[in-house]
Amino acid sequence: MYDVLIVGGGPAGCSAALTLRMRGKSVLMAYSDRGALEKAALVENYPGMPHISGRDMIDAIRAQARDLGVEIKESLVQRVLPMGDMFSAMLGNELAQARAVILATGIPRIALLPGEEKLVGMGVSYCATCDGMFYKGGNIAVIGAWNEAAEEANFLATLAHVTYYTEKPHETGTLKPEIDRSPLKPLGLTAEGGRILIETEAGSDAYDGVFILRPAMALSQLMPELETDEKGKIRTWDQYRTSLNNVMIAGDLQGPPYQIAKAVGDGNIAALQLIRQLDE
Ligand SMILES: Cc1cc2nc3c(=O)[nH]c(=O)nc-3n(C[C@H](O)[C@H](O)[C@H](O)COP(=O)(O)OP(=O)(O)OC[C@H]3O[C@@H](n4cnc5c(N)ncnc54)[C@H](O)[C@@H]3O)c2cc1C
Repeated sequence: MYDVLIVGGGPAGCSAALTLRMRGKSVLMAYSDRGALEKAALVENYPGMPHISGRDMIDAIRAQARDLGVEIKESLVQRVLPMGDMFSAMLGNELAQARAVILATGIPRIALLPGEEKLVGMGVSYCATCDGMFYKGGNIAVIGAWNEAAEEANFLATLAHVTYYTEKPHETGTLKPEIDRSPLKPLGLTAEGGRILIETEAGSDAYDGVFILRPAMALSQLMPELETDEKGKIRTWDQYRTSLNNVMIAGDLQGPPYQIAKAVGDGNIAALQLIRQLDE
């Protein structure tokens, strides 16, 4: 059980992690694919670090966090589940528990397939390890959008027949030969007779289950319990507190300006507010 789980390893998440460790809190920080900062070729506006690449900057900050005792996992967080006065989270294939959560996932950029949201848990899954066994001996589809999807598909192929669809181009060379590859792009999902239909421009194909494996999660999947406004933005109080006790947001996810300095400041303030709450 950690004091705080931080979802996101960009400047906001790292800054929060540093502050929490300086105040003696145990911290697990998870990050998945490249965040915004890693994509910045050259950063010129951060005080004291002129002419630095985003990659070098984030490596330095993460190394500092690691030195201070932050546990860092390179792992997609699929779900954070509120459980009374604690939280349970699914990190890749592992479960983690924490008393509090800071979401610092950057600007949400996940576009769901039409029909996807309402079928989650009813034949559509984001976690091969969690749900693969339900389809043993069946006929399933994987919709992959990043390199790790191929690895998960290979695991699923040990349980069921797998057809692999590519949502976004990525490395699929490691797919097992027994996996069928569909050249068609998934356009939407529907359900019929207890099966999930993947709609493509050539029609639709039915599967017992569909696994969608992307490098990030839509917030509506990561933590659907959070209150949002009419535009889908997480509602906050005092800028960082959300509708759930001991869940804060920081960085680009919290809002503009979308800059490193703001993200770092957010992480610091959200962590300090959280420390106060945890110590009360
Ligand atoms: C090309 C580019 C150039 C830029 N140049 C500058 C610049 O020169 N100066 C400047 O001030 N700002 C710049 N920015 C903006 C700056 O990078 C962002 O404002 C800043 O990185 C935001 O920090 P963040 O921690 O909120 O989010 P991010 O840096 O986006 O980090 C988000 C983190 O969350 C992780 N994550 C998301 N979902 C999950 C999940 N479900 N499970 C696990 N991890 C997850 C990601 O892997 C990532 O580690 C630039 C942005 C871009 C895209």
